[in-house]
Amino acid sequence: MGEPYLLDVKHLTKIYPTGIIGRKHIVAVDDVSFNLPGDKSIITALAGESGSGKTTIAKIVLGLLKPTSGEVLYKGKNIFKMSKKEFFNYRKEVQAIFQDPYGTYNPFYKVNRILELPIKKFGLASSKSEVKKMIAESLMTVGLSPEEVLGKYPHELSGGQRQRIMLARVFLLKPRLIIADEPVSMLDASLRAEVLDVFQKFRAEFGISSLYITHDLSVAYYLSDNILILYRGKVVEMGDIDAVVKTPAHPYTQALIKSIPIPNPEKRWRERLKLDLESFRLTEVRSGCAFYDRCPKAMEVCAKNKPEMVEIEKNHYVSCHLYT
Ligand code: SF4
Repeated sequence: MGEPYLLDVKHLTKIYPTGIIGRKHIVAVDDVSFNLPGDKSIITALAGESGSGKTTIAKIVLGLLKPTSGEVLYKGKNIFKMSKKEFFNYRKEVQAIFQDPYGTYNPFYKVNRILELPIKKFGLASSKSEVKKMIAESLMTVGLSPEEVLGKYPHELSGGQRQRIMLARVFLLKPRLIIADEPVSMLDASLRAEVLDVFQKFRAEFGISSLYITHDLSVAYYLSDNILILYRGKVVEMGDIDAVVKTPAHPYTQALIKSIPIPNPEKRWRERLKLDLESFRLTEVRSGCAFYDRCPKAMEVCAKNKPEMVEIEKNHYVSCHLYT
């Protein structure tokens, strides 16, 4: 038997059963499946508009939220059935980076303390000099010089430096996987590439994979090897980033790509896409294709039956009746 997937997300569904906004059932995530290989490191983008379910998926994968159904397997083990010790180890190997590092930092802690805490929590060093060495190494790995940032408070650093401190903190733990939720969306375009390049360095030099959540297709294109396109909680297309971006198959992906000159980090979907997004933030339980009411190619079958995911070329999958 070969090595299990590093991460294997199977039929993940999250339904909110309460009467939110006057509806009975709200489907935030609808039967989402994907995996990350265990034998090589890759960056997979989870891309979708606001309300597409991408952050809910991230929270479930991190064990912060329980799915209504479906499983998240890490190295073959269901994370919701792990023992305390196994889950502690899982959260060491699977680290999170969020949009706003301020939300994670204690503003009264200097950078030194921020970096010392995980070393202590996970017992990574046996002496003060080792702690110092580890911190210096991790800062240099993310392109910061220790003299530049140590002894400072988070508010004394630039946004790009703060995000790189988060990456240095994560690097100390030598994770196998990073779950990153829009970590560059608050940065100027000029600083974005610097932070994104750290993710690529982590993958190429240290074998760290990333699940990178974004609403910005140009960031996904710049950074990732694979992409999943989410629409109303469902994966509508996925696979190799070049195949999906250069030859999009799903009518929704086609509309997205058409609306964005690529690569151009200045353009975001939300600003360009002329679709009525606000009314579809969350979706009700329904039959048929989720894109039916906005699809220029909709057929009769699309209203009744949900399309299956099919492979249309190597590592390029689409969920649409045009291909079944
Ligand atoms: Fe359009 Fe039908 Fe394909 Fe849905 S299944 S995207 S409605 S053609």
